Amino acid sequence: MKVGFQHMGNLHIALAAFIGNIGCDVVLGPKPNKETLNTGVKYAPELVCLPFKVTLGDLFQSLKKGADTLVFIGGGDWSCRFGYYGRIQCSILKKFGYEFKPLFVSSENTKSVASQILKLNNNSWTITLKNVLRAFTLAWHKSKLVNLTEELARRTRPFEIEKGGASKLEREFLKTIEEENSIYKLRRMKQKIKESFFSIKENSTFEPLRILIVGESYCVIEPFVNFDLIEYLGGQGALAEPFLTAHQWLFYHALRKDEGSNLSKEKAKKLAEPFWAYGTGGEDQVSIGHAINAARQGFDGIIHLMPFSCMPETAALPVFEKISKLYSIPFLNFSLDEYSSPTGFYTRIEAFLDCLMLRRKKIFNKSPILSSP
Ligand code: SF4
Repeated sequence: MKVGFQHMGNLHIALAAFIGNIGCDVVLGPKPNKETLNTGVKYAPELVCLPFKVTLGDLFQSLKKGADTLVFIGGGDWSCRFGYYGRIQCSILKKFGYEFKPLFVSSENTKSVASQILKLNNNSWTITLKNVLRAFTLAWHKSKLVNLTEELARRTRPFEIEKGGASKLEREFLKTIEEENSIYKLRRMKQKIKESFFSIKENSTFEPLRILIVGESYCVIEPFVNFDLIEYLGGQGALAEPFLTAHQWLFYHALRKDEGSNLSKEKAKKLAEPFWAYGTGGEDQVSIGHAINAARQGFDGIIHLMPFSCMPETAALPVFEKISKLYSIPFLNFSLDEYSSPTGFYTRIEAFLDCLMLRRKKIFNKSPILSSP
């Protein structure tokens, strides 16, 4: 069974480890790129949201590389379009003559997914349990290390004396984590990752701008659609914190486990409740909670990323604007689609950073520019 699935940030590292260890071959296309987007745009309904288009193009790439089974994550009930992503993408791909077996992974389909895994392991419960346990442990360690690497890169970049070191280390470690299949070696890698990032020379007196990134999950996590926003901000001397990472997304949706966030989903939802009583799809309510938390913690600004025509985030937009006024925290919104360009995107970010710096200087008489590395 040759299994393909879609990318979202570095999520594929853990997913490939899991799927590859339960008896399948993983067949993935390249990470999302211009070609993926163009293919998705060509075959997707015109007004559907951007993640649908990019992930559709991504699945075309897996099929072209020989996948005979496609995993569709979240094919069940959902309060926004995500609920029917899988079924519609599946029918579009079939319409173009591709022969493949769809595997819809959602809480409603656990029985059928379990029986597929059992079949792959000669219908033996003993082999299945053994393989699933190993696959899960491997995926868990990889995902945690990916999260740690991304976090250390994020936190190091603004302070670097020589720019580029953190990004280089990040790329190297992600590659090593992806290729390593020994749980023992992965366990020992944590210390090495920490030591390597800590050895990068930093300007310890620099006080970077702190920016929270909120919005729709795919836009926050996938660097291709957000034009590598986190790396870009780090390079500009700003400390960027996404409200959600690929690791947190995966383990929350798979196990309802709040992983490595300083604000749990439940707490974020509680904070948001006076403004947004319940989630309408996506991560709207959690994003709002994180925005309030960031304002209270003295962040310098909030960047909100959403796909053009995203129903939940469009509805939540006035709430973010209200929070921005109420807590006096600058807020910048981006509505992304296939026509968004990095030039326009970075120009607006630069102007936003300039405003934040001037604001900080005015309020605290403290300039991050003066002490910049
Ligand atoms: S959250 Fe928005 S972008 Fe994501 S699937 Fe739902 S409507 Fe589309």
